Amino acid sequence: MDCLFCKIVKGEIPCHKVYEDGNTLAFLDINPITKGHTVVIPKFHAETLLDLPDDLVAELFLAVKKITQNIKDKLNPDGFNIGINMRKVAGQAVDHLHIHILPRWQDDGGGSVHTIIHNPPKQSLEEILKEIRM
Ligand code: 5GP
Ligand code: ZN
Repeated sequence: MDCLFCKIVKGEIPCHKVYEDGNTLAFLDINPITKGHTVVIPKFHAETLLDLPDDLVAELFLAVKKITQNIKDKLNPDGFNIGINMRKVAGQAVDHLHIHILPRWQDDGGGSVHTIIHNPPKQSLEEILKEIRM
């Protein structure tokens, strides 16, 4: 399998490692869009969140919390965006699950999750709820 992030996990491609534990690795994004832009990945190859076993999902998100706390303490940003591009249509370029941690500063010119897409539905919220309620 030719996966860039698996190669980083195996040490075949170098990275600027921020954090590592048994099942998780975090490193600086090679093309940072903000200072401290960090990518957190499970060492297990899963293309998306839905492909990762539950116990590893739990561990991954605990690591995201820990790493976010560390960046907050060290860089003192005013906030964060934390997110996943899932599948090509949503901007996923590397097919190995990864969570972006993006420190944010007042007046840094960035947007919010709401600026990613503007494609509001034609149906009412009630109609949509009938389709997706669990
Ligand atoms: P995506 O668009 O798939 O959500 O994000 C992939 C991210 O991986 C991009 O932000 C890109 O800059 C980063 N990236 C791609 N190749 C490398 C690499 O070899 N090393 C590191 N550290 N980051 C990479
Ligand atoms: Zn992989």
